[in-house]
Amino acid sequence: MAVDSSPRSAVNCPEPNEKFAKALQFIEEMTKNTDSVQEKVLAEILGQNTETEYLRRFNLNGAMDRDSFKSRIPVVTYEDLQPEIQRIANGDFSPILCSHPISEFLTSSGTSEGERKLMPTISEEMNRRQLLYSLLMPVMNLYVSGLDCGKGLYFLFVKAESKTPGGLVARPVLTSYYRSEQFKTRPYDPYNVYTSPDEAILCVDSFQSMYTQMLCGLLMREEVLRVGAVFASGLLRAIRFLQLNWRQLAHDISTGSLNPRITDSCIQEKMATILNEPNPNLAEFIARECEDEIWESIIPRIWPNTKYLDVIVTGAMAQYIPLLDFYSGGLPQACTMYASSECYFGLNLKPMTKPSQVSYTIMPNMGYFEFIPHGLSAPVKLSRDSPPRLVDLADLEVGKEYELVVTTYSGLSRYRVGDILRVTGFHNSAPQFKFIRRKNVLLSIDSDKTDESELQKAVEHASAMLSEFRTSVVEYTSYADTKTIPGHYVIYWELLVKDPANAPTDDVLAKCCLTMEETMNSVYRQCRVADNSVGPLEIRIVKKGTFEELMDYAISRGASINQYKAPRCVSFTPIVELLNARVLSKHFSPSAPKWTPERRI
Ligand code: AMP
Repeated sequence: MAVDSSPRSAVNCPEPNEKFAKALQFIEEMTKNTDSVQEKVLAEILGQNTETEYLRRFNLNGAMDRDSFKSRIPVVTYEDLQPEIQRIANGDFSPILCSHPISEFLTSSGTSEGERKLMPTISEEMNRRQLLYSLLMPVMNLYVSGLDCGKGLYFLFVKAESKTPGGLVARPVLTSYYRSEQFKTRPYDPYNVYTSPDEAILCVDSFQSMYTQMLCGLLMREEVLRVGAVFASGLLRAIRFLQLNWRQLAHDISTGSLNPRITDSCIQEKMATILNEPNPNLAEFIARECEDEIWESIIPRIWPNTKYLDVIVTGAMAQYIPLLDFYSGGLPQACTMYASSECYFGLNLKPMTKPSQVSYTIMPNMGYFEFIPHGLSAPVKLSRDSPPRLVDLADLEVGKEYELVVTTYSGLSRYRVGDILRVTGFHNSAPQFKFIRRKNVLLSIDSDKTDESELQKAVEHASAMLSEFRTSVVEYTSYADTKTIPGHYVIYWELLVKDPANAPTDDVLAKCCLTMEETMNSVYRQCRVADNSVGPLEIRIVKKGTFEELMDYAISRGASINQYKAPRCVSFTPIVELLNARVLSKHFSPSAPKWTPERRI
């Protein structure tokens, strides 16, 4: 296999083309001059935004240096900026946060008050994002040869957009990118040829989009050199889709005709040029591979030339590594970049390293980055009146953990992203980071992120339905069950039933599941309803005394009896096994919760 864990030597590989050489040189230049690039980026941002209402409020008075910035501008969260963001959303186009016009809002998978966060962006940011994308292949080419001699099977999707009251579009950053002219009119690049036609990627109907992308992937199976999706959960969803739909897909291939459920005219037109003759041999092959229901190594069996999976398996996605190993027969899993709606941060300079050892290098040209030391016995004071002096990108220490704070060209100043990163080393003078976790996220299956207070609220709402049965929830915990695809939330409840003759029925407990889902944030409900990337929520009722056993177990492992609190989420296998061994009954949400793309403003 042409995959190597060390860079290809000059002896056995041809010189990368000039474009690649330039990209690699750019990475070197940026990372060798981390601090000066950061200084320049901050000066550019402050110079651009000096006349904004926000910077004027803190009396920056045109200063563009780090000292003035750090001593006057507060470190903020989304909630702090919400009044300004709401004004922009409502149509106030004066320079509030940024002097350039806000072109759209990017909807983050993080939420505030149950709705997606709205990140303002400006049109030139698209070029910055594009620049980061353009660095990925030159780096990959150092490790994997011949990627210009085939195609990538990537499952890429757009999501529904909405408009703010002031008329700005609000949509996820990737939807914005796939709909952009930069993407739609991209020049031919042999290293970035996808099996999926743009018409399929750009179709909002997730079934039609996935079906067409899978069909094209099957038709071009021998040309496929890499298989991917943005996140691991997306690739697993595609495998599940194949499990459920291979018969129809094989039928289309054997007859050369398109499934009538594909009604999107742009897709139909495009597919007429791709699926234009019957191929019974291929259809037979697919049926043979799929009908045995032996799904181990299905990826290399169907796509035999796959060199690696291109998919993020760091952070919350690490839970999917074993399943991806199973379906891919242990193909390398390349995590190429680290990005967010607020800002694209950086890339993995050794994309073939094992997922547990992945480190991302933040590119100093993407924004101005500061870091709050994390886990200190005396945490940094984040007072607005006397802003803290945070650590700069070039001054971080290996082995320490930090929370990422970003200042962007789009007008976020000293904004807490919420990610905790550990410095693992340096590339030149640029630190490299292991992604540790996102703060306050308890449960996550796909792009949903549920925190402790959201879970608490959902349990409160649902358990209110039990009062007429003189029943209450005495303890609860949760578990992200990703053994099935799609994964789903499992909530363990220990009940106090005062009147066993009138205990809550199965029907009531199923309604409790649905009530919990209705209470969850909009990203969760979108995953459930529009994307089908999260399955129905499950409540498991456990025997009386289970949570006491859980406490005994924790104490036997050294927890302090005085400080013990039942964990609100569990993942440690012995604990999950203990809970599962005490389950009395299981209940599932009987239908999907309500969700529409419109925000509740
Ligand atoms: P969003 O705001 O919805 O675009 O989500 C951005 C967040 O996704 C980041 O702040 C991280 O928490 C997470 N994320 C993005 N890229 C990675 C990655 N490569 N590894 C782990 N987590 C990531």
